[in-house]
Amino acid sequence: MWRGLTCAITRGNCATMRRDGRVALVASLAVWLCGCTGATAPTPAAGAATTPAQAAAAAPAPRILYLTHSAGYRHDVLPLSAQILQDLGRLSHAFDVTATDDCAAITRDNLTRFDAVVFFTSGDLPMSADQKAALLDFVQGGKGFVGIHSATDTFYGWPEYGALVGAYFDGHPWHQPVTLRVEDPSHPATAALSPTFQIADEIYQFRTWSRRDVHVLLALDPASVDLAAAGVNRADRDFALAWTRTYGRGRVFYTALGHEPAVWQDARFQQHLAGGIGWAIGGSK
Ligand SMILES: [Zn+2]
Repeated sequence: MWRGLTCAITRGNCATMRRDGRVALVASLAVWLCGCTGATAPTPAAGAATTPAQAAAAAPAPRILYLTHSAGYRHDVLPLSAQILQDLGRLSHAFDVTATDDCAAITRDNLTRFDAVVFFTSGDLPMSADQKAALLDFVQGGKGFVGIHSATDTFYGWPEYGALVGAYFDGHPWHQPVTLRVEDPSHPATAALSPTFQIADEIYQFRTWSRRDVHVLLALDPASVDLAAAGVNRADRDFALAWTRTYGRGRVFYTALGHEPAVWQDARFQQHLAGGIGWAIGGSK
């Protein structure tokens, strides 16, 4: 199922980059869905093979649990993000999203219904030791974990979580248009992006992060920001903004983008996120 979407994303480089939210979403997904066939979802004659998009539509989609609990800073964009993520999954037939801000959803039993968990969270989430162990076992056993933006501003007192997502937030020295560089154009999360591109968002810096522990997909071009700005702590000037890693038999994808509503409404971010989620789901196949 995901192979078709990935193929379509790759072929969707010329997708419209209009930034008017749902239009951008629908336009880009239309390219994804039809990209592999080069046609608009024809109805097959009796006995004819179905298109990849039709096959994807017929099969049950992988299930995503989207957790938006804010024990710390609460982002205004959370309701919009849930709506866009649900649309993204539904229109692409790539995944089915259950959104909640209730951490009680993270139990060993309930997680068996899902293929990946997506966190856009903050602070010290109200989860018991059993719930924490269930989350780690879920990923370790071959399922997906996706962190968005403040997922790294979460669970400072639980180092195993920091190791899972790959870093902890260390302030956002910049909130402005910046230039990002794609470091791995072959990954589904970055295949549709230009090698370098501008985007306006709140830009995170990380601590307890090392290139040795992750596979970097996107990084800030340090020439596009003021490195003398208040709060810049990284002496190595290495500001990665999206990466993958493995965790046991599971896959982890993190993107630091996603503070601004305009970013969520941007087809480039939607493709980036959907590509990362699809990759993370793929570990369980
Ligand atoms: Zn933010």
